[in-house]
Amino acid sequence: MSTRKSAKLFDRAQKILPGGVNSPVRAFSAVGGSPLFIDRASGAHITDVDGNRYIDYVMSWGPLIHGHAPAGLVRALGAAAKRGTSYGAPTAIEVELGEEVRRRFPSIERVRFVNSGTEATMSAIRLARAATGRHKIIKFEGGYHGHGDPFLAQAGSGATTLGVPTSPGVPPAAVGDTLLAPYNDLDACRTLCARETGSIAAIIVEPIAGNMGVVPPADGFLAGLRALCAAHGILLVFDEVISGFRASAGGAQEVFGIKPDLTCLGKIIGGGLPVGAYGGRADLMALVAPSGPVYQAGTLSGNPLAMTAGLWSVKPLKPRLYRDLAALGERLASGLADAARRARVPLHVNAFGSVLTPFFTREPVRDYRSALTADTAMYGRFFRAMLARGIYPPPSQFEAWFLSAAHTKKDVDRTIAAAKKAMRTIQN
Ligand SMILES: *Cc1c(COP(=O)(O)O)cnc(C)c1O
Repeated sequence: MSTRKSAKLFDRAQKILPGGVNSPVRAFSAVGGSPLFIDRASGAHITDVDGNRYIDYVMSWGPLIHGHAPAGLVRALGAAAKRGTSYGAPTAIEVELGEEVRRRFPSIERVRFVNSGTEATMSAIRLARAATGRHKIIKFEGGYHGHGDPFLAQAGSGATTLGVPTSPGVPPAAVGDTLLAPYNDLDACRTLCARETGSIAAIIVEPIAGNMGVVPPADGFLAGLRALCAAHGILLVFDEVISGFRASAGGAQEVFGIKPDLTCLGKIIGGGLPVGAYGGRADLMALVAPSGPVYQAGTLSGNPLAMTAGLWSVKPLKPRLYRDLAALGERLASGLADAARRARVPLHVNAFGSVLTPFFTREPVRDYRSALTADTAMYGRFFRAMLARGIYPPPSQFEAWFLSAAHTKKDVDRTIAAAKKAMRTIQN
């Protein structure tokens, strides 16, 4: 299997794009080797520029719940493009997608479309701060909310440490109001809220964590956050950029029956085009410009191509799809676990419906600390062994694998067969 053309392109890319890529994890630095350049994709498969074909479990990091390049979407985009790609003026389809979002997420009484998940979370926090007149926020260790300054903080030591920047260029002041707590640790949140009572604007949480690998919420965690926020006048912000339209058509908030004050969406809502959204209580959203004073704008926000892809992706979502995806996810999760057992490889597979992460560790993973016990070098060897067998898993231990409606039982069984062989080669 030659990857010569990818290697050549990566050489060229590194001379023009920082690290050769436009988003860091694509560079394969966490797993060794050099990235594959993709030429085309269809259904559950991607093909690189050397003509190698893979079963894809990255799926553009989540948006492609219907698979790559579904014919109906390609047609709809072609038709939309003919009528103009962007006007910078209102269109009917923005209203239609907005109403569709509200139908799926009753907590979203009003919604604003933006161009990425990053924009959605940044804007939601600005709004939460404006609405409460408070500045502090609580985020969870290992939680990812895009690359906005206030979110690029991690714990120094322990739950009650003030945020320190995880990236140069982020002024300490930008994360000085970011408090950190371990995921699934309600007591740590209670302590923070008691200590900082009256100064916390929002708690932002991935209701199903997906960016330290998949970590579902512990029983009562989300309900506990809801109650805590209500008691302290804090706004609860669900970052459902992954879980929205993924955990169910109504997101994790539908699955767990929790009503956040604000919700951030991304990924599936754009069906593979750049879209994000934030929304929630009408009284809060009324503060957003031009109906209120909280400034937020976007030249290409709500453009007809992005809205077309979003509407096409979201409208047909039905419970049946989620049942099928969950069955496939269960098949893959148990197949990977079984492959590891046979090869005596330590593995814990966390799964929720159509997302899963096989953690190469002996410890159950319920937060960032336990996720970090995973053997990332072993994951790297596993990744490369799978790639050599025509399977394309995410190039990092701490990312979710994504299934789509285009993945078949046969794809999953081929993946498990490849994993059985791969697992035998990765022990030290
Ligand atoms: C991907 C992601 C984001 C950021 O979205 P972008 O579109 O990459 O800016 C924010 N929050 C979560 C939970 C995500 O998974």
